[in-house]
Parts: sequence; structure tokens; C-alpha cells
Amino acid sequence: MKKRNVYCDNAATTAVTRAVLEAMMPYLTECFGNASSGYRLGRQAAKAVLDARRSIAAELGAEPDEIFFTSCGSESDNWAVRGAAELGALAGKRHIVTTAVEHHAVLNCCKHLERLGFEVTYLMPDRFGKVSAESVEGALRDDTALVSVMTANNEVGTLMPVAEIGRICRERGVLFHTDAVQAAGHIPVNVREIGADMLSLSGHKLHAPKGVGALFIRRGVKLPSFIDGGSQEYGRRAGTENVAGIVGLAKALSDAADSLAERTERLTRMRGRLEQALLGIEGARLNGHPDDRLPATVNVSFGGLEGESLLVMLDMYGISASSGSACTTGQDAPSHVLTAMGLTEDAAKSSIRFSLGDDCTDEDIGYLVQAVPEAVARLRSMR
Ligand SMILES: *Cc1c(COP(=O)(O)O)cnc(C)c1O
Repeated sequence: MKKRNVYCDNAATTAVTRAVLEAMMPYLTECFGNASSGYRLGRQAAKAVLDARRSIAAELGAEPDEIFFTSCGSESDNWAVRGAAELGALAGKRHIVTTAVEHHAVLNCCKHLERLGFEVTYLMPDRFGKVSAESVEGALRDDTALVSVMTANNEVGTLMPVAEIGRICRERGVLFHTDAVQAAGHIPVNVREIGADMLSLSGHKLHAPKGVGALFIRRGVKLPSFIDGGSQEYGRRAGTENVAGIVGLAKALSDAADSLAERTERLTRMRGRLEQALLGIEGARLNGHPDDRLPATVNVSFGGLEGESLLVMLDMYGISASSGSACTTGQDAPSHVLTAMGLTEDAAKSSIRFSLGDDCTDEDIGYLVQAVPEAVARLRSMR
């Protein structure tokens, strides 16, 4: 077996594609103007930002003035959650409903808001990582200011019933935010079908660069500004626009939409082959929903094994995978997602996430299905 580098951590970040880089390049070089400047260079930049806004709006089923550019998915989540809390507090509503399996960008906002006197309900998922619409409905109160439930989970890939949750929130007049950072570009995402008031996305999870994100805010939702200053982003998020990043985000999202059907088919097939090999390893167990799941994600527990050690071993084989969330790697605590799904601490710590990329080949999968079982066997023989 010849060593091969296989990047299997696309849920942590993705490579910028050549096409995205080429779309961005002019805005890093000749067209470097400030989009707020009135002369030609500035107008060119402003036009690029507007075109990007229109394109992203069209992809998401939104209107251009409902798309707000941010610096990352975390910022989008912070803006949505804190902004909705601020709005709620003005109306005497200080209760938030979210799930125990959200990204820390949402969870730690909620923790912060609890210190400010908000009450937060953290809904527990079933053993597949799914939170039911019924449990959301059951948690709603007269003073609920916000429901925030992710579209797809970043650690196990499980899809949440967001359209149902959106419908319930609309009926009850409660704001609904969804973190679609893992979903956008990977499954169809339409803000109207979901019924979201706010929806977060991030460039670097879909082949745009790091440092750019967006928040959809439905017209009529008076979310307060997040960064006060100049009049960028309709006066609601100040700061000179990251023009090249914004152009890259729009290009990446439209390219992703163009290839979505083909990629879903291919990635699901390749993941199936990988999953079968992984689950053939003694003591292995799938984490996440068997069907309602992102096409490229597979998270597996390897009974009795130390996940972090396996990652080191896999790295020696040229394989980049993850023990769940990149943001918590290096911490000793087991994954909050896996423990919420009912895994024991040991089982959670023995879990590895593989998230395949668009450039993944059958040769890559052929290598993985040989190398991973071998790495596990080597690690087990060392004890
Ligand atoms: C990566 C991720 C984020 C954070 O996005 P950044 O752009 O890295 O800040 C938020 N939510 C989910 C589900 C993610 O996977």
C-alpha cells in the first residue's frame, strides 16, 4: 500500500478552488478600491459586492437586501443570537430555545446571555443527533425570543427538521435562526422553504476563503446592528467590505449549486464505500443519522480506542481526519454532541469524523478503506 495524502476534514475547512480564486483575484489586485468610494475604483468594488449579494440571494431564495456580509460563520451566529436576544428583551422576552448539539458559536453566545439574565432551554437530540420539531414546540413559552436550531450538525452530519421547526416558529410568532454553515453548498438550502428569519453561512466550509461569511436577515426583522460605525451593509454591519472574500463566497455558492446533484450522488456513493469498511472494523459504530445526513460526513466510534491517538496514526498514513469539531481539538473534554446523543465519555473519545471533499477520488477511497483498518489494528496491537 503506497502512502497517499487524503484530506478528510472538509467539515473543518475546505480548499479555495481555482475558479473561486480567479474570481477573487481582480479584487485583490487592480480593483482594490474601497466600495464606499465614489470614483471608478470604488464603484467597481461596490458593483462586485452588489452582484455577489444578488447571486447569493438568488441561490438561497432570498432578496438581495436580506443578505448581510460578515467575517465568518461565528460572527453570523453571534449577530443572530445576540441580536434576537436584544430585540426580545425590548419586548420583555428573555427565553431562548436551542439544542445541546449546536456549534459553540451559538452555544457560547447562549451561555453569555444566561449570565445577562436570559433563560436558555437546550433541547436534547435523539441517539442519531436529531432534535424533533415537537420538542421545539413543547419548549416554546410566551416569553421565548428566539429558536436557534442548526440545519446540519458539524460533527455527525445529522440534518435537523428545520422546515417543520420554521413553520412552528412562524405560527407562534417566534424568531427562528438556523446555523446553515455545514449545509450551504452541500444540500439544498432555501430560506423560504426553511421558514428562517435568520440563516448563517460561512465561506471556508464551501470552498471560499476563510474570513468571510453571511447572515440572511428576513425583511421586517429589526435585528440591531452588530458592528456600529460606517453605513456598510445597510448600516447594520460596519467595516470596509472584504470585497474579494465576498466575491469568492458568491462564486463558491453558485458553483456548489451548479454541481450539487452530481456531487451528492458521487459523495454519497464514495462515503458509502468508506462507511462500510469502517463499520467492518471490530467494535466500530456509526454516530449520526444513517440516512438524514450530509452526503460527505461519516463519524464512527472505535470501541476502546483513543481517538486522538488514532488521529496521530492516521496522520502518519497521510490521512487528515478529526475527532469532531476543529474548534475543540486539543481540549480534553469529550464531544458535547456525542455525549448529548447518549455516548459514554469513552465512546465519544474514541470517535473520528471523516468529511470527504469535492476532489475526493475512488483511488482516495481505495486507500482509506485499506489504511484506516490497518491503522486501527496497529494501534490496538500496541496496547
Ligand atoms: C465552522 C462552523 C461554524 C463557524 O464558522 P467560522 O466561519 O469558522 O467562524 C459555525 N457553525 C457550524 C455548524 C460550523 O461548522
